[in-house]
Amino acid sequence: MYIIFLGAPGAGKGTQAGELARELGLEHIATGDLFRQALERGTDLGLKAKSYMEKGVLVPSQITIGMVLERLSAPDCTKGAILDGFPRNLEQAEALDKALREQGKAIDNVVYIKVSEEELLKRLSGRWICRRCQAPCHATDSPPRVWGKCDKCGGELYQRPDDNEVSVKKRLEVYLAETAPLIDYYTQGSKLIEIAGEGGVAEVAKRIKAALPGER
Ligand code: ADP
Ligand code: ZN
Repeated sequence: MYIIFLGAPGAGKGTQAGELARELGLEHIATGDLFRQALERGTDLGLKAKSYMEKGVLVPSQITIGMVLERLSAPDCTKGAILDGFPRNLEQAEALDKALREQGKAIDNVVYIKVSEEELLKRLSGRWICRRCQAPCHATDSPPRVWGKCDKCGGELYQRPDDNEVSVKKRLEVYLAETAPLIDYYTQGSKLIEIAGEGGVAEVAKRIKAALPGER
């Protein structure tokens, strides 16, 4: 089973993709997290991705596609995966379709989380992320119980360097120009499920579960 989460930066893809992955027992593959981990470890991949991420533009597709297909071929992904932050442009979407097709597989659903631009800006500007488990919280909307510490795992909270005003603006621009066209691409394949992304985490999760076809 392959499910893609699509939406602007700050739409809540990571949170919702993580919850659904846990529930379905699938791996949660977040390309942004993979790049940040690579950077933290100082690998070649991380160093290559660094300048693009800081600017808020896409890492070249060749690098990204290679990384994702390699991750998908790992043994823990034989049952499928939940993809978050990939594909992010048409080239990546086509490469993914082709790679899955070659293995007799296909994408099952695309969950598109829609949030107004005003709400996105508010969320990103107050966002703090756990260094250990990547869980986000918000300085005013969902503050941690202990300042600077993750409610879920006690890890250290930090602000992503690309959550500054200039990079956020750029990321939204890139999203509209390169990623938003994927909404059409997946609508044509009848795979798209549109979810209203405003409201609490649990509320949005409930909408997603209700909208996904299947046993739930
Ligand atoms: P957000 O969705 O909040 O912008 P991500 O963590 O998904 O954050 O991505 C952070 C950065 O990582 C992006 O701005 C981009 O530079 C890089 N990145 C992540 N996914 C991709 C991708 N599929 N293709 C190219 N670059 C990517
Ligand atoms: Zn944590």
